[in-house]
Amino acid sequence: MTPTAALLRRQIVTTARALGVSSLTHGTSGNVSARMGDGFLVTPSGFPYGQMTPADVVAMTLDGRATGRREPSTEWRFHAAIYAARAEVNAVVHCHSKAATAVSCHRRGIPAFHYMVAVAGGTDVRCAPYSTFGTEALATAAVAALEGRRACLLANHGQIAVGKDLASALALAGEIENLADQFLGALSIGEPVVLSDEQMAEVLRKFETYGAPAASKRRGSARR
Ligand code: 13P
Ligand code: ZN
Repeated sequence: MTPTAALLRRQIVTTARALGVSSLTHGTSGNVSARMGDGFLVTPSGFPYGQMTPADVVAMTLDGRATGRREPSTEWRFHAAIYAARAEVNAVVHCHSKAATAVSCHRRGIPAFHYMVAVAGGTDVRCAPYSTFGTEALATAAVAALEGRRACLLANHGQIAVGKDLASALALAGEIENLADQFLGALSIGEPVVLSDEQMAEVLRKFETYGAPAASKRRGSARR
């Protein structure tokens, strides 16, 4: 069932507040959006999450026309570009979480140093090249870095996580932050061992049924 605009506005505020509560972002950095019809709803720009109400959320078309009492997030361009490029994506979470941002400042992605990188849909989490925040160039770079993935880093900036809904995008942002933190720890005693493409292919296969109900899991394991 498609959520109503009122429900989506409430969920966006809850998700944006959760970013602060879970220390995934600091102050007014980061932004949250959800697809709605032909466009999307996005958090207002530079507005404290603790004071945000559903009426502060801004409605936008994919070509950038905004309706609302506040200015939309400066990053509306990458939110719009992701919805235009990825039909399966219904929610986008962007944040400056500490470890992901630290890794992004080295302009490195997160390699398969741990099998859990598969949570973002592939064998690594890429880092998009640097562009000024809010620009079309950053939007283009983000969409490219997200190809075949549900998350990416943004050089000298932070991370983006996407999902079928706001809850999964928020949960993925937490996973990416945890992976980045583990990666920083591993780097502290040298370059960690990176899993091979073959090892990651096996993990990605297992992830197809990871967390699925028991019956579908048993069918999956009988096949393999
Ligand atoms: P906004 O407050 O305009 O959403 O900007 C925050 C941010 O993270 C910019 O990259
Ligand atoms: Zn940002």
